[in-house]
Amino acid sequence: MDKLKERILQEGVIVSDQVLNLDGLLNHQVDPQLTMEMGKEFASRFAEAGVTRVVTVESSGIAVAFATAYELGVPLVFARRKKTLLADPDALCERVPSFTKGIVTDIMLSRHYISEQDKVLFIDDIIANGDAARGLIKIIERSGAELVGLGVVIEKCFQAGARTIREQGISIEPLVRIQSLEGGVITFAD
Ligand code: 5GP
Repeated sequence: MDKLKERILQEGVIVSDQVLNLDGLLNHQVDPQLTMEMGKEFASRFAEAGVTRVVTVESSGIAVAFATAYELGVPLVFARRKKTLLADPDALCERVPSFTKGIVTDIMLSRHYISEQDKVLFIDDIIANGDAARGLIKIIERSGAELVGLGVVIEKCFQAGARTIREQGISIEPLVRIQSLEGGVITFAD
């Protein structure tokens, strides 16, 4: 998506060789029109997969996952970052390290909103080391649902997350692949 690449160049602020601040596009502000276009693109890439639910993790994946679910005409379910100690017998939980926050959080998805009849498309904002994605993939597997694939807005190719998840046999569709942030320059992979 050339338009998305242009916006990444406009809005992205390189924090280090590893981290790109995208608050202006994904993590603080969103452009509804561009987000709907991203949803259309994911929906077309997974049009034949028979998706019954789109899932994501709160909060930055929600906007683009909503756009995708809207295009596919299916519900969106977002895993919540658990802030309560109240036991929910219907919750599927996983503990995941947070790349940007440097802390560990628990994510949870209620069995009310995912079942073994589902074909699930997982949409997320950015994949780096893949910890957040692996956590939600484990939850989807434990629910008995079929994971048809993972759509990410940005794959940071210089970190191992996407590669290791592909090695598990899971299909990942990135809209944009970033090869490097070295030298203060955003270099795209293709
Ligand atoms: P992972 O678990 O794959 O290492 O990191 C995934 C999550 O961390 C993403 O959902 C995203 O919110 C955040 N993240 C990882 N790398 C970056 C980055 O370079 N920039 C921003 N803004 N967020 C990132």
